[in-house]
Amino acid sequence: MVAAEDRGLLLDALAQERRRLRDVESIGGVGWWELDLRTRAVTWSAGLFELYGLDPDQFSGDYAAALECIHPQDQAPVNAGVEECMRSGRPLRVRYRINRHDDGSLRWIDSRGQAQYQDGERIRIVGAIADVTEHVHAHAQALAAETFHQAVVEASPDIIFVYDVSTESMTWANRSVPELLGYPEATAAAGITAFLNSVVHPDDRGQLPISMRQLVGAPAGEVLQMHHRLLAADGDYRWFSRRIAAMHDDMDAGITRAVGVLRDITDAVNIEQRLQHSALHDTLTGLPNRALLMDRLAGALQRSAHLQRAVSVLFCDLDGFKRVNDTAGHAVGDQVLIEIARRMRNVVRPGDTVARISGDEFVVVVEPWNRDGQSPDVPEQHSDHQVGISIAERIGQALRPPIIINGNEHVISASIGITHSSQSPVFHSPSDHSPANHAPAARPHSTSPEDLLQDADAAMYRAKSLGKDRFEVFIPGMRADAGQRNRIEQLLRQALRNPAGAASPPAADGRHSGAVLGAAFQPIFSGTTGALLGFEALARLTDAQGRFVGPDEFIPIAEDTGMIRALGARMLELACQQLAKWRNQHPRLAEVTMAVNISALQARDPSLAIEVHGTLSRAGLRPEDLILELTESALLDAGTSTLQTLRGLHQDGVGIAIDDFGTGFSSLQYLVTLPLSSLKIDRSFTAGLPENKISQKIVQAVAGLAAELDLTCVVEGVETAEQRDTLPPGVQIQGYLLGRPQHPDLMDFSNLLAGPEPRRVRSQQADVQALIAG
Ligand code: C2E
Ligand code: CA
Ligand code: CA
Repeated sequence: MVAAEDRGLLLDALAQERRRLRDVESIGGVGWWELDLRTRAVTWSAGLFELYGLDPDQFSGDYAAALECIHPQDQAPVNAGVEECMRSGRPLRVRYRINRHDDGSLRWIDSRGQAQYQDGERIRIVGAIADVTEHVHAHAQALAAETFHQAVVEASPDIIFVYDVSTESMTWANRSVPELLGYPEATAAAGITAFLNSVVHPDDRGQLPISMRQLVGAPAGEVLQMHHRLLAADGDYRWFSRRIAAMHDDMDAGITRAVGVLRDITDAVNIEQRLQHSALHDTLTGLPNRALLMDRLAGALQRSAHLQRAVSVLFCDLDGFKRVNDTAGHAVGDQVLIEIARRMRNVVRPGDTVARISGDEFVVVVEPWNRDGQSPDVPEQHSDHQVGISIAERIGQALRPPIIINGNEHVISASIGITHSSQSPVFHSPSDHSPANHAPAARPHSTSPEDLLQDADAAMYRAKSLGKDRFEVFIPGMRADAGQRNRIEQLLRQALRNPAGAASPPAADGRHSGAVLGAAFQPIFSGTTGALLGFEALARLTDAQGRFVGPDEFIPIAEDTGMIRALGARMLELACQQLAKWRNQHPRLAEVTMAVNISALQARDPSLAIEVHGTLSRAGLRPEDLILELTESALLDAGTSTLQTLRGLHQDGVGIAIDDFGTGFSSLQYLVTLPLSSLKIDRSFTAGLPENKISQKIVQAVAGLAAELDLTCVVEGVETAEQRDTLPPGVQIQGYLLGRPQHPDLMDFSNLLAGPEPRRVRSQQADVQALIAG
């Protein structure tokens, strides 16, 4: 028997134990339960009631009521678990939902139970529950996040992979690398790393494992990037970028894994390469452009200095190309250029460079020590300079055969300027002796690519001025030529910007406010009556100091640079305005004409007719007052549309003259077909008069022909009375003898109009009739 006192103590201890248990339940969010297997009575702890949000009074205490508290969908599995435990004694482990009785909130409960025995018989199950709602939610969230990331990774066109740094192998990838490259999956049977190493481009092979090793010890977040090629199943290499970032999943172990992205960048690389190519090449011919040329030239110079050899630079400017472009059109011009590029490339050696640096300018860089490949027949003992020269000769020969496009022959030649970088022994071969006229111009070793090119350019201009279709080797004296050309180009630009170029004479101190493009006028007289019949407007360019630049110098430059259009338009305007002004001042000039020179490029401009009529009407002149002078070659080369324009102008009454007649290779046949009103005999024929009998015969024949065709005939360049006296009757005369080109404000009309009344004379016959009538 337990003493009452002891009993009190025991009860106290028991109550204390209960309180503790109760606290533990409350703090831990747990509870316990007991199921009596014989009575099916259920006992719940205070903690369980609390978790269920249930008042102990509301619970009847039997098994069915306990099941009732569980979410309807989970009752059956829980029951099955309990039955199983009852039957077999296997521990109970269930997770179920409840709706808390007090606030209706859904909670997740884990319940574990165990059978208890008495005399070998299962008499009850004792279990514990815990509220695992937070845990379940966290898990669900993690699961959702993982599913999301997985979907993103799966959807990526890139290959995303995990790489094990210690074994240097790919341990996971979102898609099959072999399949991406078009191989069957089984190709990578030996492992993905082995597979990748087998298809990586040999040149890129080295960098891969090295880069991987860099990862070890790399700080977190460090991204390694490399580009490499992989061989696809179709035999082409494709470009890939590989980005790899170290993963620190265990701070102590350092980097064990890396995550990588393998991206196919072939298209981007191709575009970049195309851009790079087009940035450095001429699109029409595919030849290197100026930028690449300068680069190659710099490289060649470095090599030449190292080898003590000489580089040759050949500056080739096409002769007559502008004419092809102007007359046959740009499409044909393009074909011609392509053919020329092909021919030039054929005559250089594989190591040499042929570049196209502008419309009709090509530059060849010759490295004479490149004698390999299909070397032209340059004897071994040739000096470096001779190699350059022999290539220039070969280019000249290669261009000789006419280029046939659409059945039309185009004959193009090149004017070539050659310059050599100096090398220490000027001639590397003792047997060499250069021809005297090709004496090498030694330059210091520091010669820059720009200098060489400029010198070759200067030599090219010398070749041009010496008659084209030839080559010249640079000598220092030529450098001024190029400088002069540049100066004139600048002057022209400045003058065309400067509207003051109009007919204003220089200021009292002889100074202009910058370069000026104006017009001088030369009178043209009747050879029969001596009457003033017209003027020719001639372009005059002066610099800021009032110094003249001759048209023979600046007109070709204006043509080369395209400025001739603006120049021509200005001359037309100046000439027409001047004639109108003079007519106002001198009523006797009502019948005199104004002749203006028109270059081939200008004639080809479809807006020429509009420009001419616009200028005439602004000046208040009639079409009959104007004569356009075109050179023989410009007229010969005129395409059908140009001829149509000229024919239209001619029909409207504008005169068309052939300038410098006799200097071209004209067949007389075409004279009949062209819309012509006059013919100007070139002053080279006049110069031979009176001694040169052939010149005299030619002048007479041409004058007769003109009369026959009812064309006016103007004899240019008449300087002496003897010359005038040998001229056939009926011609018109232009020359220093009767009047030099003059600034319009200085024109002496008292003298000019001293002769008979100026009358327009259409032809020799009319002129003769006028004489008889007068
Ligand atoms: P051109 O059209 O044959 O012009 C006649 C040239 O002969 C002028 O030279 C004139 O000054 C010169 N001259 C006239 N009489 C005599 C003479 O008795 N003896 C000598 N020795 N020469 C004489 P300029 O003004 O130097 O012009 C040269 C060329 O420049 C012109 O030859 C023409 O082809 C071109 N040119 C001049 N102005 C223009 C222009 O406005 N537009 C175009 N497209 N070309 C022009
Ligand atoms: Ca002329
Ligand atoms: Ca002329």
